[in-house]
Amino acid sequence: MTSVITTRALVKRYGALRAVDGIDLDVRAGDVYGFLGANGSGKTTTVRMLLGLVLPTSGEIELLGGRMPRAGRRVLPRVGALIEAPASYGHLSGRENLALLDASGPAGPWRTRKHRIAEVLEQVGLAGVGRRPVKAYSLGMRQRLGLAGALLRRPELLVLDEPTNGLDPQGITEIRNLLLELHRAGTTVFLSSHLLAEVEQLCTRVGVLDRGRLVLQEELATLTAPTGATVVQTPTPDRVRQALDGRVTAIDGERVVVRGADPAEVNRLLVSAGIPVTGLALQRPTLEQVVLAAAGPSTDRVEASR
Ligand code: ATP
Repeated sequence: MTSVITTRALVKRYGALRAVDGIDLDVRAGDVYGFLGANGSGKTTTVRMLLGLVLPTSGEIELLGGRMPRAGRRVLPRVGALIEAPASYGHLSGRENLALLDASGPAGPWRTRKHRIAEVLEQVGLAGVGRRPVKAYSLGMRQRLGLAGALLRRPELLVLDEPTNGLDPQGITEIRNLLLELHRAGTTVFLSSHLLAEVEQLCTRVGVLDRGRLVLQEELATLTAPTGATVVQTPTPDRVRQALDGRVTAIDGERVVVRGADPAEVNRLLVSAGIPVTGLALQRPTLEQVVLAAAGPSTDRVEASR
C-alpha cells in the first residue's frame, strides 16, 4: 500500500504542554482515516502540522511522498484541506468566493473553471444558493462552502478537521455520502472527529489520540472483528444456560453470550431443545468499547453519538 501520510515521532510543544506527543501516523492510499480524540487531545495541532501551517517541535512528516514543510509547494496543490471555520468574504457570493480561491490555482480557460465551480457547489448541496452573499449563509452552509473549496482542484488527498461541525443530521448524512462517493472514486480521506459514530460509519482505518498520544491505530474491520462468541436474544435466558451447559459466559436481560463463533450451530441446539430464539448474531465489539479499552476513561469526552 502506498503511504499518503506518514509521521515519525511527531511532537509539538507549547511551553510545558506536549500538545502532540510523539505520534507515528500511517495513512495509506484508499483509506478513509478517522482521527479520533476528545477536545484538546491535539487533533487540530496535528492537522495543522501535516499541512505545514504549524512547525513541529521535532519529528518527521511525509505527505504524498514529500517531506513537510519543505515539499509543501510541490505536494499541497494535490491536497484539499478544510480546517476549522473556513474564512470567506461575507459580501461576496459562494461562487465568487470559490472563484477567488480558484484564481490562486493553475490558470485555465474561464469557462472550464466556472463549470468546475458549479460542479463542486452542486456536489456539496449549495447549487441553489451559490449566488447569495456568504454573510447570509448558516454555519453549516459555510462548512459546505469550505468543503467545495477543498474539492475544487480534484485533490488526491482530502484533509478535513471536524468536517461535520455545525451541520444538522441531514447535512451530516449528505457530507458522509459525498465523502464515500469521493472515496469510491479514488480519493484518500483523512478526517478528524470527536464523534465515534461518525467515524464508525465512514472510516476504513482509525487512529485514536489521547492527550497528545496515539493510543490506537488499526483497520476498523480488524478492531470490530468477531470475538469468537455468539449473542443470542431470547425471552428465556436461564433455559439457554441449562441447555448449553458451560458455554454461556454472560447474561444481560434477554441477551445471552455463548462461546463459539457458529450461530447456526447454537441455533440448532436451542431449537432442538424447544427454546425460543428471537435474535442471533456473531459478537463484535463496538468501536466505543475498543476506544475505551485503549484510551481509558479520559476519552469519555469522545462522544458516542450526537
Ligand atoms: P479541539 O477539538 O478542541 O480543537 P484538538 O484535539 O484539536 O481539540 P488542539 O486544538 O490540537 O486539540 O489542542 C491541543 C492542546 O494544545 C490543547 O491543550 C490546546 O489548548 C493547546 N494549544 C493548541 N494551540 C496552542 C497554541 N497556539 N498555544 C498554546 N497552546 C495551544
